[in-house]
Amino acid sequence: MSSSTPLVRRDLPHLLTPLPGPRAQAIIARDQKVLSPSYTRSYPLVADHGEGAIIEDPDGNRFLDFNAGIAVASTGHCHPEVVDAIQRQAARLIHMSGTDFYYENMVELAEKLAASAPGPGPWRVYFGNSGTEAVEAAMKLARYHTGREKFIAFYGSFHGRTMGSLSLTASKVVQRRGFGTLLPGVYHAPYPNPYRQPGEDGTCSVRWIEEQLFRTVLAPEDVAAIFVEPVQGEGGYIVPPPAFLRELRALADRHGILLVFDEVQCGMGRTGRLWAASHFGVTPDIFTTAKGLASGLPLSACIAKADIMQWRPGAHASTFGGNPVAVESALVTLSLVQRELAANAGRVGAHILERLRTWPVRFPNVGDVRGLGLMIGIELVKDQSTKERAPEVRDLLEQMAFERGLLVLGAGANTIRLCPPLILTEGQADFALDTLEECLQNLTR
Ligand code: PLP
Repeated sequence: MSSSTPLVRRDLPHLLTPLPGPRAQAIIARDQKVLSPSYTRSYPLVADHGEGAIIEDPDGNRFLDFNAGIAVASTGHCHPEVVDAIQRQAARLIHMSGTDFYYENMVELAEKLAASAPGPGPWRVYFGNSGTEAVEAAMKLARYHTGREKFIAFYGSFHGRTMGSLSLTASKVVQRRGFGTLLPGVYHAPYPNPYRQPGEDGTCSVRWIEEQLFRTVLAPEDVAAIFVEPVQGEGGYIVPPPAFLRELRALADRHGILLVFDEVQCGMGRTGRLWAASHFGVTPDIFTTAKGLASGLPLSACIAKADIMQWRPGAHASTFGGNPVAVESALVTLSLVQRELAANAGRVGAHILERLRTWPVRFPNVGDVRGLGLMIGIELVKDQSTKERAPEVRDLLEQMAFERGLLVLGAGANTIRLCPPLILTEGQADFALDTLEECLQNLTR
């Protein structure tokens, strides 16, 4: 290489055109004529191909992806071992309907998931295609097993958009507006947020259920299950105080209520451990996984204690759930996550959090930084003393980062979420943080 050739690192962003470039613009114009306008696009990124934590658009611009397809591309984009497994399986058997017939890799994945569950088994596994399907399965199973009808979920939670899971979701009103009456008998309680309730150890949310809900509007013996995200995702990447899930477990046990952990976003190594539940030492009765499970192929699982998952043949099933190609991808993903990627998420996540720790002191718009592993939130405020939320600052930051080749998205009203692929290197993490620091400095100028 001649000394005048600039060194372009393939693991970092590189922009060639103003954004969006001409090819991206043409695709966006076609998209806008034909795709459902219900999709939320925060900035005009068109993905053409990806490798690791890098996405390249059709104009040759390279971006560092701190979204991972919203916590899905756990092993990075097109991990060679995942691609190889998908290609081999696609040439062997693409579909057979696991609800009606048997095939070995579905059994193998169920065995491995059951063996990895956060607590003593035995466990059984039901496969679906998406997070919402895993949650629907958990809702139906909880009703079937307990003979009870009602549910408790938390404000800020996101459990999906089909009618059952949407009834649990209490994230943004736009997700419910216009859709009429949802499932009756769903009650919501506050999710503990250490930044907004300093000093509170999380037990007040549990006391609120016992002392408010159970004394006024909801008989505990009518409740089938409590659904909770061990780390709240769409609601703003909120890590609850350790006592919260322990106390919730005790409350559920006192009243014969099932405890369901929705690990669709926080599971599969994202928090530095395979399941977020294991940070808190609490075992659920049922848990769900989806997003990162198959590195981008559609696959979800609802995993329950074996004595709970006792429903009759025909009670619940899905044509595509447990598709052999998605399952093969998940087998490789699970092995990579258990072997090295959860540990990498823990290590690189700790490095990011260490650097972020000074931000609330250095940047007046940064109210709070928090996270576990590579599930990290940066909360933007107008004023640090009042903690007034600043959604417009968050949106601007998202846009400024995009213009510098860094892909980040929001969560909740005013939080930037960092959920890069679990293969992220420290060098890539530092690039992203340098970029965000530069954006924050420009904001205050
Ligand atoms: N549960 C949680 C915790 C989620 O974050 C999501 C999606 O963001 C879902 C469920 C729904 O998953 P899907 O979009 O695959 O239906």
